[in-house]
Amino acid sequence: MYFRDVIGQEEVKAHLIRSAETSVIPHAQLFTESGGAGAFPLAMAYARYLNCHNRSATDACGQCPSCRKYDELVHPDLHFIFPMVASKEKKKEVCEDYLPKWREFLHGRPYFTIDQWLDEMEAGNSQALIYSKESDEIIRKLSLKIYEADYRVMLVWLPEKMHPVCANKLLKVIEEPPANTLILMVSESPDLVLGTILSRSQRIHVRPIQTEALTAALIDQYKIEPDNARYIARLSAGSYIRAADALSLSEENSFFLEQFKAMMRNSWARNVKGMKAMADALSAIGRERQKNFLAYCQHLIRENFICRFQSLELNYMNRDETSFATNFSPYVNERNVFDLMDELTKAELHISRNVSPKMVFFDLGLRITALIKK
Ligand SMILES: [Zn+2]
Repeated sequence: MYFRDVIGQEEVKAHLIRSAETSVIPHAQLFTESGGAGAFPLAMAYARYLNCHNRSATDACGQCPSCRKYDELVHPDLHFIFPMVASKEKKKEVCEDYLPKWREFLHGRPYFTIDQWLDEMEAGNSQALIYSKESDEIIRKLSLKIYEADYRVMLVWLPEKMHPVCANKLLKVIEEPPANTLILMVSESPDLVLGTILSRSQRIHVRPIQTEALTAALIDQYKIEPDNARYIARLSAGSYIRAADALSLSEENSFFLEQFKAMMRNSWARNVKGMKAMADALSAIGRERQKNFLAYCQHLIRENFICRFQSLELNYMNRDETSFATNFSPYVNERNVFDLMDELTKAELHISRNVSPKMVFFDLGLRITALIKK
C-alpha cells in the first residue's frame, strides 16, 4: 500500500510526509477512524515511506529493496499484531501462525473490516481477539536485532481487542521503546484502548473520506456514472467500505431485475424452454439469494400494481425499474395481483423448506403464464 492507494486524506498524508522529512517521528502513533476512512492503508503507506531508500516528495519509490519487501509484506522488520481466533487443534495460537493468510488477505485490499477478516479465517461465529499469549511474541519480535530497516515497524490493528495482559506489555514497550522502533496502531474504537497507551501515543485522527475524492475513486474503480458515484459517496458518509457495500447491493438489484424481466417475458410468450433454462440458472445462485430474489419479485409486482393509482415518480423503484414499469405495469391489475403475490410467497416458502429450486422456479413460471394474461 502506497499513499496513492489511499483515497483522499491529503491533509493526513501531508502531515505524515512532513514528519518523515523532518525526522520528527513519534515512536508510538495511534491512527483512529470510524471505519472505511483509510487509517490502516495510511499507516502502511507511512511505514513503507519511512523505509523507502528513494522516496519522492509524495510517495515511496516502489523499486528499492525495502519497497519490494513491503510489496510482499515480507520485510523482516515489519511486524503485525491483529485480532485472531485462536485454535489449539488448528495450531493457531499467535498472529505469526496466521501470517500467510493475513498477507494474502491484505494483498491488493487497502480497505477492509473485521468481519471480512473473520470470514477469511473461517471463524464462524467466534470473536477475534489479541490474546495474552501475544505479549511474549511482542517482546520476542522487538528483542531481535533490526535486520536492515531504518525504522522497524510494529503495526497493531485494532488495539482495542487486546487482552489486558498484552496491552500492558505493549504499554511497557511504548514507555521504553527499543531504538528505531515505531509502534503504529490503528483503532476504530479508541475509547476502548488502554488509557495509558492512549496518553503516551501521538493521535492521528482520520476523518471520513471527502465526498469529492470518494466520488472520483468510485468512478475510477467501478466505472459507474458520475451521478451514481456522487449519490453513493454521499450515502456512505465517507466510508469506502460502505460505498462498496452499496455498490454490490445495487449490482444484485440489477441482476434481479434482469431475471424478473426474463421470467415475465417467458411466461407471457409461453416459452417453456426459456422457463426451464431460467429455473436451471436460478437453482445455481444459492438459497439465500433465491429467497431474496422472490422477495424482490413481490416488491416489483406491488409497485407495478400501485403505478395505476399514482404517478411513476412517487414509487419506490429505481430508474431502470421505473422504465421497465412503463410497459409492464398494465399487465398487473386487480384480476391477477393477489394470485401473483400468492404464487411468489408460496415459492419463497418452498425454497426455505428445501424444495428443489429447479422445480419451484419452473412451476412458478408456468403459474405466472396462467395469470399474466388475465
Ligand atoms: Zn522504495
